[in-house]
Amino acid sequence: MTDCLFCKIAAKEIEADVVHETEDVIAFRDINAQAPTHILVIPKRHIASAADLTNDDGHVLSEIFAALASLARSEGLDGGHRIVTNVGADAGQTVHHLHLHLLGGRPMSWPPG
Ligand code: AMP
Ligand code: ZN
Repeated sequence: MTDCLFCKIAAKEIEADVVHETEDVIAFRDINAQAPTHILVIPKRHIASAADLTNDDGHVLSEIFAALASLARSEGLDGGHRIVTNVGADAGQTVHHLHLHLLGGRPMSWPPG
């Protein structure tokens, strides 16, 4: 997608604080962190949201969750962490390229706002 912020980050056309990268997945620190650790894990290929995943996306999903687990360990989130993906306007999705938020380093309340 030519006009997608996260496609541009994946293509290194826009700078980001990258903390993990494989052939299919890249992770970088959120520019507006909501917790001491706030990392976004995305597929490099454009997928608009979790609602747009198909049966062909199993490999990239397993890489995303492997990255999330590895980053939670390397960030020292021993007390736990939260993984969130917003889908659509009511959930507050602002960037329409699938991204999983990894949040940790502070206690979190439930339910979320
Ligand atoms: P969402 O609201 O779930 O779509 O999340 C989008 C996230 O992307 C927000 O937490 C933003 O702070 C974050 N974000 C927007 N632009 C950038 C950027 N250039 N680099 C890193 N994170 C960004
Ligand atoms: Zn994209």
